[in-house]
Amino acid sequence: MANAAIISVGNELLNGNTVDTNSNWLQNRLLTVSIPVVFSCAITDAIEEIKNAIQYASGKADIILITGGLGPTDDDLTRQAIAEFLGVKLEYHSEIEDKIKKFFIAINRPMVEKNKIQAFLPAGTSEIENDLGTAPGIFYEGNKKIIASFPGVPSEMKQMFDKSILPRLKKPALSGVEGFSQGDVIITRKIRCIGAGESAIAEMMGDMMNRQRNPLINCTVDHGIITLHIIARAKDKRTAETMAAKDIERLCGILGRLVYGFDEQTLAKVVGQKLLEKKNTLAIAESCTGGLIAKMITDVPGSSGYFTYGWVTYSNEAKISELGVEKGLIDRFGAVSSEVAAAMAEGARKKSGADFAISITGIAGPEGGSEQKPVGLVYISIAFKDGVNTEKMLLGPRDRDFIRLRTSQHALNLLRLNLGD
Ligand code: AMP
Ligand code: MG
Repeated sequence: MANAAIISVGNELLNGNTVDTNSNWLQNRLLTVSIPVVFSCAITDAIEEIKNAIQYASGKADIILITGGLGPTDDDLTRQAIAEFLGVKLEYHSEIEDKIKKFFIAINRPMVEKNKIQAFLPAGTSEIENDLGTAPGIFYEGNKKIIASFPGVPSEMKQMFDKSILPRLKKPALSGVEGFSQGDVIITRKIRCIGAGESAIAEMMGDMMNRQRNPLINCTVDHGIITLHIIARAKDKRTAETMAAKDIERLCGILGRLVYGFDEQTLAKVVGQKLLEKKNTLAIAESCTGGLIAKMITDVPGSSGYFTYGWVTYSNEAKISELGVEKGLIDRFGAVSSEVAAAMAEGARKKSGADFAISITGIAGPEGGSEQKPVGLVYISIAFKDGVNTEKMLLGPRDRDFIRLRTSQHALNLLRLNLGD
């Protein structure tokens, strides 16, 4: 089975300035064509480093993907490093320079002399077209290896990989490269859960996470969302898909309502789908989340089909004047209380005429906590035709972003549970 290595080039990846998202994206893309990544590294903009990394990667993998270092400045050295690794010279391509010139004309800027270097490719390699920028990629195929080099800019790299490289890798025996045999197929499916911790979910799963098992199940956590990655390996795609489907059915039975969705589904997407199906509408009144829930809901295309109103009622006055919360209620119980959360949700539902309303009131910190009402105390209410459900959360003295994001996810989950099946 063919496998791959990824080399991420750039000083910025090693000094804390830029997070290497390219390798992560490429790993996911390669898995869609059942090509596992066996080696990945981030290195500085230095010819020797790049050359050594290609050398090492070529001992491990059939396909070597490189991102970064194809720009026009003196710190962009990938092109020279590939030439040195292959033991060839750089060759000038007038047709590439013409394309770069056209690119600059289209954005109404002059092409400077420095860009000329981008019209050079190592001898024996070909251009990977870049429709979004000036740096062409470099493609090499020989000695039973493929080397594909892309600019570091994520949008350019993604477009070039999908357009020019992925179609080649989809072919059963990699496009004429001798030595690649058709091997196992790997399918990855994801189950998304919320409402229990990682360890509780792992316990419910018994021995299903055994490392020798096929499908192999991995678990990742992100702001209260537990994702189970089901990786099935088989001789053909259908068998792998059937194996993954069987595990999904079994896990859904075990985990029940903790499962909110599959693959790349977000909670907001799942909740939106349910609202659409039921022809229900939604309004949101937020305090400490400052509009984050409304953002998550409206991140989903088509959310205008169910989302009607959003308020950020941060002050007591706003809660009173905009949502009709009684002043006496705030005086008696405080703005962060289950009573005020419920009144906010009921007020938002009434004022908007929506079928459901979410409300949030809490203390996101770092200031403003007390012994009775510590940082991380949040109330979430869901108002609907027959009443209102309120949940109290104690998230602890975490940072503001954590508290706001966790609260928003839980609010969406509470809405999901209140929407029923
Ligand atoms: P380069 O092609 O090396 O000139 O990179 C251009 C820009 O792309 C850099 O300044 C970074 O902002 C970004 N970039 C480079 N490598 C990566 C990477 N591995 N992941 C995410 N962004 C990157
Ligand atoms: Mg760079």
